[in-house]
Amino acid sequence: MKEAQLYERLDKERVRCILCSHYCVIAPGKLGVCNVRQNVDGNLYTLVYDRTISQNIDPVEKKPLYHFYPGSKSYSIATPGCNFRCSWCQNWEISQMPREQHFITGREAPPEKIVAEALRSGCRSIAYTYTEPTIFFEYAYDTARLAHEAGVANVFVTNGYMTTEMLTLLHPYLDGANVDLKAFRKKTYQRLVGAGLEPVLESLKTMKALGIWLEVTTLVIPGVNDESDELRDVAHFISQERGPEAPWHISRFQPGYQMADRPPTPIQILQRAQEIGHEEGLYYVYLGNVAGESNTHCHMCSQLLIQRRGYWIIADNIRDCSCPSCGTQVSGIGMGWNFSE
Ligand code: SF4
Repeated sequence: MKEAQLYERLDKERVRCILCSHYCVIAPGKLGVCNVRQNVDGNLYTLVYDRTISQNIDPVEKKPLYHFYPGSKSYSIATPGCNFRCSWCQNWEISQMPREQHFITGREAPPEKIVAEALRSGCRSIAYTYTEPTIFFEYAYDTARLAHEAGVANVFVTNGYMTTEMLTLLHPYLDGANVDLKAFRKKTYQRLVGAGLEPVLESLKTMKALGIWLEVTTLVIPGVNDESDELRDVAHFISQERGPEAPWHISRFQPGYQMADRPPTPIQILQRAQEIGHEEGLYYVYLGNVAGESNTHCHMCSQLLIQRRGYWIIADNIRDCSCPSCGTQVSGIGMGWNFSE
């Protein structure tokens, strides 16, 4: 067990965790909502430091991050646990393990080992992903600092429920993030996620202010968030608060976990969402979890910039971070680097 970094003692016994917007007040012997932080004798401890439940080398496009060193590999890690309980979670076996099975397991992998393995496997970044990285903050923080010293970038794939205090501590080492904006209705967040919407919106604004490269994902679920009005609210928020250059990934729902009885999202709804994204001024709107190509075009002249099939890049025509046809700059980090290196 390692002592937590972000908490305060309320009295001799109780502590308040200030890592995520649940702000759990935890009595001795008890756990927070995430079930991976415990009050032991008036001190707060993380139970998942250096416990990886998942370690993979992924294309960075799988995060999804399409404008962050395109075509590069990302060393991807997770510990068990999450501060949300989404009814549609694709990784529920590991994200809900501490809550549902009252059990934490994982391979011991200290930060030094993660960075060494990322370097050895030629990864351009380390991704903190699969479960919610906020709840394994201390592990991610120590790893991210070492990664930067070694010239490796760091990205979070997150639900965005962290506090400003956490982002302020981490941001010198956090280069990019994909934030899941799951809906734009408070009641959806409260009923199906077990959290609030507003802190997620605040995190998106804070990340922009801190200069973290940001892409946004919305999983469109039939009967949950597939109304055009709500999708327009999401697109409008991204365009206005993050800027039109922020990529929006519209992902197709597949039945699973507590939503096994629903059909996959009809393609027509995804295409309508993509149109809405463009109508709201977003330059880059992508469909995910669908067959076929998902390409990047210049938002000024429509020139094909990056051709993708699934997570794989077929062609990258970007030169000096710009469109080879009209010279317009392509937004992102490491755009136009040699992805075949
Ligand atoms: S990380 Fe969030 S859910 Fe977990 S104990 Fe802290 S405030 Fe609670």
